[in-house]
Amino acid sequence: RAKKHLGQHFLTDENIANKIADSLTETGYDQVLEIGPGMGVLTKHILRKRKFKVTVMELDSESVKYLHEVFPVEHIKLDTSKENFNIIEGDFLKQDLNTIFQGKEIAIIGNFPYNISSQIVFKAIENRHIVPEFSGMFQKEVAQRIAEKKGSKAYGILSVLAQAFYDVEYLFTVPPTVFNPPPRVNSGVIRMIRKKDYTLPVDEKLFFRVVKTAFNQRRKMLRSSLKSMNLSVTLKEDPIFAMRPEQLSVQEFIELTDKIASHGDRNNERTS
Ligand code: SAM
Repeated sequence: RAKKHLGQHFLTDENIANKIADSLTETGYDQVLEIGPGMGVLTKHILRKRKFKVTVMELDSESVKYLHEVFPVEHIKLDTSKENFNIIEGDFLKQDLNTIFQGKEIAIIGNFPYNISSQIVFKAIENRHIVPEFSGMFQKEVAQRIAEKKGSKAYGILSVLAQAFYDVEYLFTVPPTVFNPPPRVNSGVIRMIRKKDYTLPVDEKLFFRVVKTAFNQRRKMLRSSLKSMNLSVTLKEDPIFAMRPEQLSVQEFIELTDKIASHGDRNNERTS
């Protein structure tokens, strides 16, 4: 039986599972990490490619038991020898990916548990040096938030941070009817491919802070939402600070961070 607190909605449609597995570009890595394999519906299609070493990470011990005992027998034709298939029981959010994969590049994929989907994206972004590709299924609204461009209502922290390092593509929408139990909302599949140059020309920690602080008060002008960053008087007159965060492209957030780094914080003026 599906466990609600683990966001369990199992795919029942092989075609959709196949389509999600096919979202992998299969270039530039030879290891795939699937988050939340459940009963292995998607796993089967990833293994079928026979191209990758596949690691699955699952929190639910019952599913893990199934994957160990039933799955390899049911799918005996698939290459699930120890070398190519690895099951880790645990919470993805608590794993140290660098240590597990010894710094090797991995593509992350999954039909993600919706209750922690934003955290999964943030963790992938944090580990971007070993994650050249990230694709999978989210609640449609979250998928849109990751893929949207400036000016849209869904554009926010997730969009800016993901798109700063990845090219994001919204692939297709999936209706609730292909899950058991069906979720209440539509789902959306996205693919993120890491940019060739994924280091920013500004202090990355400051960039994250600027983006998060600005969107925490998304209705306000930057001049006021970024007050805590001790902006100098001259800097506050820059027209960019009369804008709201949803009006700024990723590139403009980078420029904003640069301006703050050179005129804000450290240049905290005493005259005001
Ligand atoms: N991949 C399967 C499918 O498509 O049928 C299951 C998808 S279901 C939406 C999400 C899966 O993630 C569940 O099997 C759930 O137990 C697992 N899960 C939930 N939280 C997790 C976590 N923190 N780390 C790893 N897996 C988790």
